[in-house]
Amino acid sequence: MTTIQRIWRLRSTLLRLRATRCLDCGYVSFPPKAACPKCGSRNVVREELPKEGKVLTYTVLNVPIKGFEDQAPLIVALIKLGDARVLAQLTDVKPEDMEIGMEVVATVRRTAPTLDGVVPYVVKFRPKEAEQRITLTASSTSTNPASSSKTNKASESGQTP
Ligand SMILES: [Zn+2]
Repeated sequence: MTTIQRIWRLRSTLLRLRATRCLDCGYVSFPPKAACPKCGSRNVVREELPKEGKVLTYTVLNVPIKGFEDQAPLIVALIKLGDARVLAQLTDVKPEDMEIGMEVVATVRRTAPTLDGVVPYVVKFRPKEAEQRITLTASSTSTNPASSSKTNKASESGQTP
């Protein structure tokens, strides 16, 4: 299996948001637990969470965490997915565009490399709206100055007489 195939396989595994539901109190835990973290019951069943949900609350970490320097500011949100509440990192959104109640969708992204240099993939959430916006305006100018300057350089070098 190639690396790409492995990544795709991992993506689909990660995107299956496995959780457990307590049959005694109804609490849904993600990731799955052998016993209910709320009432301690072992009477739990496996369940898959929906991939779309809403932001209940969020926090913005402006001070970068070691290993996450390129990802600052880091937005961590509590997301309602079906009956579960999931704490996850948001991606593809600026802090000023964050809103309580915004619709988000699960995606798989790279995270900070571990000490041995392995780059793990994790589930993050991105705005559902942004996904549509990106599709509609894919050819328009980027608001990221770094990426647009790269584009300019590339086109300049391509137009050498
Ligand atoms: Zn319970």
